[in-house]
Amino acid sequence: MMSHMEQTLFPRLEALYPELVRVRRDLHMHPELSFEEVRTPQLIADWHERLGLEVRTGVGGRGVVATLRGGKPGRTVALRADFDALPLHDEKDVPYRSTVDGVMHACGHDIHTAGLLGVATVLSEVRDQLSGNVVFIHQFAEEVVPGGARSMIEDGCLEGVDVIYGAHVHSPKEYGTVGTIAGPAMAASDTFTVTIRGKGGHGASPHQTVDPVVVSGHLILALQSIVSRETDPLRSAVVTVGSIHGGNAANVIPEYVELKGTVRSFDPAVQEAAEASLERIIDQVCAAFRAEGTLDYVRGYPATINSHAETERITAIAERVVGAANTYEQAPAMGGEDFAYYLQKVPGTFFFTGGRNAEVDAVYEHHHPRFDVDERSMLVTGKIFIAAVLEELAAAQAD
Ligand code: MN
Repeated sequence: MMSHMEQTLFPRLEALYPELVRVRRDLHMHPELSFEEVRTPQLIADWHERLGLEVRTGVGGRGVVATLRGGKPGRTVALRADFDALPLHDEKDVPYRSTVDGVMHACGHDIHTAGLLGVATVLSEVRDQLSGNVVFIHQFAEEVVPGGARSMIEDGCLEGVDVIYGAHVHSPKEYGTVGTIAGPAMAASDTFTVTIRGKGGHGASPHQTVDPVVVSGHLILALQSIVSRETDPLRSAVVTVGSIHGGNAANVIPEYVELKGTVRSFDPAVQEAAEASLERIIDQVCAAFRAEGTLDYVRGYPATINSHAETERITAIAERVVGAANTYEQAPAMGGEDFAYYLQKVPGTFFFTGGRNAEVDAVYEHHHPRFDVDERSMLVTGKIFIAAVLEELAAAQAD
């Protein structure tokens, strides 16, 4: 059953909907790439200033943090939305199509941003009745490693924060559904480059060379044993070599071969072990064939691990907002998300709001040039955020 405050505030958010659509479409028409955001953080800061919140700009680079202080002391809840776009050309035929060639909001971060501004507006109207504070974290650069989350945390965006909630609109699922998942939700996503250095020469005189092409063949097969023979079969990992480059003539043994790949994992111990195994196997396979192997291993975002109590809270709220039949358990995904860094510092959860709707041609995958979502998903996420804040701050039952 909805609380009295939910019954008051949900219609307030719905009343704001036309304005939130206007903001979302404005952002959609003016997308900005990761680490290049200027107009978007300005628009966000201006909005929160108008609401009378404490606003910090340039947080960790280009982030915006707005703090709403309740009338009484209490806990502090953070809500996070990301605001960067992608290097894609918008191929939709809609009035709010991107006006910037080759840049597009193809992941829904415009929806996240507009929705969070709506939540801030509604909560600011009842600030006197709140026991505690709400921190609105508007994060730049989610799409490109190292991402904006880490530097925003270093710059203090989580100071005094007790719990954090985040959400992603989810185009594979229908509008009106919500997915939640406790524990590992998104994978740690690392990349690596291996250079196998041999000794080049004539293809007809292999004995006078060290052939890095043959070594790379042995190495690629050996690397597959990291998952199949060294990782607990009940804990998952992926080691993929996705690129191999070396040589360009039929009768020349090249000087070197370069491999590129990715490692995905959920468990930090599995991730550490995979990196160490990669190093060892490259060293020793190359040494066995007189070649020299070097590894450049780049850690991407860590795994996103949702805490249990907060996930249960969101699940119960989602059941009130969209109904139990439309609330499902999200499967873990091998994609990465830098919300992971916040969850390393404070408890919280990251949930998924369905955005698919064939009636508005919102049927394309994230990062597709025709990506779009049902804009009403802003209201679903917004209501869940509002309800979570009310519960966390034990808002007074005002009338
Ligand atoms: Mn995204």
